Amino acid sequence: MFDVAEIRKDFPILARMVNGYPLVYLDNAATSQTPRQVIDVIVDYYSRYNANIHRGVHTLSQEATDAYEQARTKIQKHFNAAHAHEIIMTSGTTHGINLVASGFSTFLDNGDEIWVSAMEHHSNIVPWQMLCERTGAILRIIPMDENGELVLQPFRDGLSERTKLVFCNHVSNALGTINPIEELIALSHSAGAAVLIDGAQAAPHIKADVQALDADFYTISAHKLCGPTGVGALYGKEAWLNRLPPYQGGGEMIAEVTFEKTTYAALPHKFEAGTPDICGGIAFGAALDYLNAIGMERIAAYEGELLDYATAELLQIDGLKIFGQAPGKTPVISFNLEGIHPYDVGAILDKLGIAVRTGHHCAQPIMDFYRIPGTVRASFSFYNTREEVDRLVAGVEKARQMLS
Ligand code: PMP
Repeated sequence: MFDVAEIRKDFPILARMVNGYPLVYLDNAATSQTPRQVIDVIVDYYSRYNANIHRGVHTLSQEATDAYEQARTKIQKHFNAAHAHEIIMTSGTTHGINLVASGFSTFLDNGDEIWVSAMEHHSNIVPWQMLCERTGAILRIIPMDENGELVLQPFRDGLSERTKLVFCNHVSNALGTINPIEELIALSHSAGAAVLIDGAQAAPHIKADVQALDADFYTISAHKLCGPTGVGALYGKEAWLNRLPPYQGGGEMIAEVTFEKTTYAALPHKFEAGTPDICGGIAFGAALDYLNAIGMERIAAYEGELLDYATAELLQIDGLKIFGQAPGKTPVISFNLEGIHPYDVGAILDKLGIAVRTGHHCAQPIMDFYRIPGTVRASFSFYNTREEVDRLVAGVEKARQMLS
């Protein structure tokens, strides 16, 4: 039995009123909410052992270092990486992607090809375009279909010895599609290409096993996983991380510095210049503990039921169209009301205390594909309820009547 009423008690923010109504928070794909178990860890850090890590001999510094390194190990275990030093602490998915994109300039030649899927977040498009500008590599696109699923055949046909890198999100933030990354990784490897998987949207719903997937890189953001903003992790295979040059120079990432020559620290510190978000990293570990105590499979099962219910109810509304209907997708519903701008729907929902996202969701190519300016996106989490779905549906119906 999934006791959502009990779970909701862990999230103080869910008790708040917005515009005179109890908050219905359905913007989880943008940022998830934070349970008190994680908030307590943040307060405890600043109340008891706030100190810089890795270089202090004093007790506070050692306590902070231990807690931070334990968090790294929690991330390693959660994603089943072979080694803790394959987990690079970052400020989020965007940072992880840029770290890899920047390092790959060293390996690419004019005319090399890199592939990216048609349903990427801008953070998994722009860094690769910048990489192409720097190196003369060519960006190729794995297309998608009307259902919001990738079409792999052009990719299969296009693979060659020029293919060096492939990037794809595990789950689309705009549509919720779970992409066939196992196949994509196997195909890419057969051509000798490395693969980066953007796991930002998958991680809240799917416990990825990076070794079983054989991903070369996998990126995540803590704030989609009940953790704080501005923290994330990049998993990279040891061999790749050893080959990649450092992304930033500074303290913490060196072995020895002289004005003649600097040598770099071993993994993972080579990629961790400067003082990191220590508290955020520790809280990220606590967020994974929290999710694992509930169980990722139970979370996914409950969210799946909520998605089915919400989909059936929303489709009863006249003129409502859902974009992206891939089977088994994560709990994201992107929709529009015929003849009504998504922003107007979102504004009315906000007046009713319902938080959804409107716009292109940082995935403009998807909107161009469907020839729409954007969508209303309701994204659910395990702390949402059927009653909240009912409030959403009533709110959308009200918006339809007011705006038609
Ligand atoms: N990729 C995807 C699929 C995302 O949904 C997001 C966040 N919306 C990002 C990357 C970027 O994550 P962050 O802003 O935490 O770096």
